[in-house]
Amino acid sequence: MAVIHTLEATDVLRRQDPELAEILLGELARQSTTLQLIAAENFTSPAVLAALGSPLANKYAEGYPGARHHGGCEIVDVAERVAVDRAKALFGAEHANVQSHSGSSAVLAAYAALLRPGDTVLALGLPYGGHLTHGSPANFSGRWFDFVGYGVDAETGLIDYDQVRALARTHRPKAIVCGSIAYPRHIDYALFREVADEVGAYLIADAAHPIGLVAGGAAPNPVPYADVVCATTHKVLRGPRGGMLLCGAELAGRVDRAVFPFTQGGAQMHTIAAKAVAFGEAATPAFTAYAHQVVANARVLAAGLAAEGMVVTTGGTDTHLITADPAPLGVEGRAARGRLAAAGLVLDCCALPHGDGRGLRLGTAALTTQGMGQEEMTYVAALAARVLRGETESQKARDEVRELAGRFPPYSG
Ligand SMILES: *Cc1c(COP(=O)(O)O)cnc(C)c1O
Repeated sequence: MAVIHTLEATDVLRRQDPELAEILLGELARQSTTLQLIAAENFTSPAVLAALGSPLANKYAEGYPGARHHGGCEIVDVAERVAVDRAKALFGAEHANVQSHSGSSAVLAAYAALLRPGDTVLALGLPYGGHLTHGSPANFSGRWFDFVGYGVDAETGLIDYDQVRALARTHRPKAIVCGSIAYPRHIDYALFREVADEVGAYLIADAAHPIGLVAGGAAPNPVPYADVVCATTHKVLRGPRGGMLLCGAELAGRVDRAVFPFTQGGAQMHTIAAKAVAFGEAATPAFTAYAHQVVANARVLAAGLAAEGMVVTTGGTDTHLITADPAPLGVEGRAARGRLAAAGLVLDCCALPHGDGRGLRLGTAALTTQGMGQEEMTYVAALAARVLRGETESQKARDEVRELAGRFPPYSG
């Protein structure tokens, strides 16, 4: 299994470079003895790790299967064709590009395929959960395009669809982006499509977070609605770190050229092979059960945090993702993240729909991969609350976390 694979590889590394071997083993130990509640993280399977650590990493393969700028691509071509075919089947898409190095590269390619610098784009504002690639001034998106941000309702935390429509009518954007780093509810893709059609805009769905739930039938599929769907392969989908694009046949050429040669060079064939492995896993009944368990676990965790007094944004979740304000427990978001980290509960801060305070963002994808269920979610919610209220010392909490994690090893030998 993975540990064996990892340990064999690490043995080679230990002999040659003990300094780096220690770092790899240290990270394996960290991941195995703390709880990974970061909503964007997961544990890839041993098979995905095997593909990532394979000699496909050596191959240069600029271009696409059957049309490469290098010789010797006949075998990696097959890997990429398998990855593309599996992605198309999994998501019901006419076309898939699996070369994007990351979610951000996929978004960059979508903009490159559909927009020109200076175009107006309507997207969820960053203070409400938009990604950096949705118009941050620190990112190419905010520098090269004219972003207009819609928001969420301060009371409900839900996307303000009336505002989306009004801003679209006023600004006539060239594209509308739906998707978020922190939105816990399903997105109404049909409504976004309707607004986009009304103003003649492209619809880009940045489904980096929920695409794994889509694969498992636990969230609505944006593919029938969006012109281009951008996604990551490493979040709930549980594949290697990377991105992908899905679109209809008529945009296939533009999307492919936007990835290579416009925004990227040679494809990473080991990662593409690993994506194929992950798509294969995601097509199984076991993954469907996993995706539904991820959501069931998130609902229990959200309810547990609410019962402890935290304010859970939108009152719950439809997905793997929860955002919550810990302030009623007497701690603000950033301090809360630090205290929880000391106890071995690893999660992120995020913006909140109301006020300037920071909230906590967490998810259940990784814990569910480890085999944890609703009983463990209830326990984790109570433990987090005890830590934040100062009822349990962080060392004692750390021991509890180590014990729980020890019962659900992410990579059992
Ligand atoms: C995670 C995420 C991305 C970026 O993915 P990277 O692989 O980190 O570049 C883009 N958009 C959204 C909505 C995300 O959640």
